Amino acid sequence: MAKKYTGRCACGAVTFAFDKDPDFIANCHCRDCKKASGGEMATFFAVPQEDFTLLSGRPKPFHYVAESGKGLDRNFCPDCGARLFTSNLESFPGLVFVTLGSLDRPELIEPRLEMFTKRRLKWAKPLDMPQFDSMPG
Ligand SMILES: [Zn+2]
Ligand SMILES: [Zn+2]
Repeated sequence: MAKKYTGRCACGAVTFAFDKDPDFIANCHCRDCKKASGGEMATFFAVPQEDFTLLSGRPKPFHYVAESGKGLDRNFCPDCGARLFTSNLESFPGLVFVTLGSLDRPELIEPRLEMFTKRRLKWAKPLDMPQFDSMPG
């Protein structure tokens, strides 16, 4: 049976799906998210690893040590370079963090909090939702 949510990279080589409605959905303003996304922040959400299913393509993992000192793998499409998901998170075992923009229907999921607001650039205004200076406590 087809899963509820589907996503793909910009060129369509890598596709994935998952079923569970995420509850952790964050706008993260940290330096790592700025570097990885190329923007002021990244919106991502957590999906249990056992639910997250790769349907096609071979995303390339890049092992990275975050500002927190914890390791993780950023996975991107080696053809188009689009960032897709983060796995093997030392801080969050059993979870995959999926970038909102890679969803086929990104309008289905909305952020519920903002984090690392201490790194938010001055021109970016807080949204009307819980704000966390660094990681949510
Ligand atoms: Zn691609
Ligand atoms: Zn971040």
